[in-house]
Amino acid sequence: MNIDFSKNTDGLIPVIIQDSETNTVLMLGYMNAEAYQKTVDTKKVTFYSRSKQRLWTKGEESGNFLNLIDIKNDCDNDTLLIQVKPEGPTCHKGTDTCWATKNKTNYGFISALEDTIQARRENADSEKSYVASLFKLGINKIAQKVGEEAVEVVIEAKDENDDLFLSESADLLFHYLILLQAKGFKINDVVDVLKSRQK
Ligand code: AMP
Ligand code: ZN
Ligand code: ZN
Ligand code: ZN
Repeated sequence: MNIDFSKNTDGLIPVIIQDSETNTVLMLGYMNAEAYQKTVDTKKVTFYSRSKQRLWTKGEESGNFLNLIDIKNDCDNDTLLIQVKPEGPTCHKGTDTCWATKNKTNYGFISALEDTIQARRENADSEKSYVASLFKLGINKIAQKVGEEAVEVVIEAKDENDDLFLSESADLLFHYLILLQAKGFKINDVVDVLKSRQK
């Protein structure tokens, strides 16, 4: 690859690091010719650290390496876009990217359900949408509904009927997600509290 390392007097070119699967921009670093060669040879992204003044393989201390997938030169050969598969969070502050204050974890179906609840709250007709009608009734009513569903779970827990227990559990979780949104939160916020208790 024809890269113009001489454009800047320090022999460094900027390198944008992008997640090859999500396309998220993870960080920006600098490479000299040696760092570039080491990256190609080892398939672990290696920068020239301006603060350390030496080659720096991202992950050398943390183990959060950036595994090389693809390197793209820009239009005038002085900036690289490198696509990687990151091992763990890229930012040394613990987030996936250097431009996030918090990781947005995807809880799959639960996250999609939270999005649906939000959409109903914002757009749906409260005559037609049960979720919209709950938001119209207000927080106290929603909280009361969570209480009722919790009691139903307690009752079914004493029974042998697993289907009823699971059905009431689903009701509870569903209404709890609605209550969280009514209070301005997502399940992620609760998980953060649980995680902070683990230490
Ligand atoms: P690591 O390369 O992940 O083992 O981290 C070693 C050191 O490099 C950290 O203590 C930070 O000083 C620095 N560092 C790590 N990741 C980044 C980053 N994304 N941006 C800037 N500095 C970083
Ligand atoms: Zn350029
Ligand atoms: Zn960072
Ligand atoms: Zn129920």
